[in-house]
Amino acid sequence: MTDAAGLDPFSLIAAHDERHAFDAVVPPIAQTSLFTFNSFAEMEETYLGQRVRPTYTRGLNPTVRLFEEKLAAMEGAEDAMGFASGMAAISSTVLAFAQPGDRIVAVRHVYPDAYRLFEILLKRMRIEVTYVDGRDEEAVAKALPGAKLFYMESPTSWVMEAHDVGALAALAKAHGVLTMIDNSWATPVFQRPISLGVDLVIHSASKYLGGHSDVVAGVVAGSKAMIREIRAQTYPYLGGKLSPFDAWLLIRGLRTLPIRMKAHEADALSVAHHLKAMDCVDSVQHPALANALPAGLTGTSGLFSFTFKDGVNVPRFADTLRLFKLGVSWGGHESLCVPGQVVLSQNQGPNSGHAFGISPRSVRLHVGLEGAGALKADLDAAVAAALAA
Ligand SMILES: *Cc1c(COP(=O)(O)O)cnc(C)c1O
Repeated sequence: MTDAAGLDPFSLIAAHDERHAFDAVVPPIAQTSLFTFNSFAEMEETYLGQRVRPTYTRGLNPTVRLFEEKLAAMEGAEDAMGFASGMAAISSTVLAFAQPGDRIVAVRHVYPDAYRLFEILLKRMRIEVTYVDGRDEEAVAKALPGAKLFYMESPTSWVMEAHDVGALAALAKAHGVLTMIDNSWATPVFQRPISLGVDLVIHSASKYLGGHSDVVAGVVAGSKAMIREIRAQTYPYLGGKLSPFDAWLLIRGLRTLPIRMKAHEADALSVAHHLKAMDCVDSVQHPALANALPAGLTGTSGLFSFTFKDGVNVPRFADTLRLFKLGVSWGGHESLCVPGQVVLSQNQGPNSGHAFGISPRSVRLHVGLEGAGALKADLDAAVAAALAA
């Protein structure tokens, strides 16, 4: 995999400018809110835009910038911008491009808080969002004319509907519709949407990019012009800036992203096949177990769901698990379980799990890095307890 200059983008992960860092192999953290000027002239030139240098961390911070450059290289994008959370990246990006009266088309079952942003905040701003099954290209083509933005997530959060991202991006381009995708699940290791024709790629960096469950962060990558637009329209005012320390943790996470993703892929596939072979399991929602992977998706990660048949005591199953912890989020080293029944116990309306295709008999798993053998034994014990109950 090479970029336009013939460089392997992942080789850039290890690169940083060591001149100002005592030749340290790990970059320093510019843990500072402000940067001082050496003279009136330097300060004035900076204010006039004749000189680019940090002034205040909400605008520009060298550690955050280093993370942004590395992530842009990995996504094959011209530029990137870091945020305090994935939701800050999503909201700042959508609000930079959508105006009152605009319509957004989104694939159905998007990440629940993205859905709530659309249904609650955007509605209040008279921005309408319509939802389509991203696997149905005819339905997408029908919905696109007149839309401002096409919002994608592939595969989707719980039911793991995987889309032909390149084909959908081409449809949107034909209708002059701007495209953005939530690429948190696949990461640039397995899906590089810019190369598939998508305009803007966002991540919850809290998931695989960080990889150690110790940071909440987000990022958007795209052309220099579009990133400049977000910087001008929303970024400084909504203020969801990535902190220097979190950027430093993300730089550390990126170094091991490719090998972690390969381990998540192999172990999750092994666990998914193991579940599929169980008599008490009705179906497994894993993109590699459904059909062939769509073009552009070159691998699969550690997050998938499965659905029990009737008669399984799901609370007993959950309480017997030892390696799989009960917890939301995913993308770290640890294995996690979310029973659909718990999600569905929330209220109706946009806060309800019913909007995301979740069944009460379904369970979402994140397969971490503990090793597939031990994880399968953990599931076997929990299933045995759930059936005996
Ligand atoms: C977690 C998540 C988000 C939101 O990211 P935060 O960093 O928690 O704000 C967005 N999209 C997907 C698919 C996620 O899993």
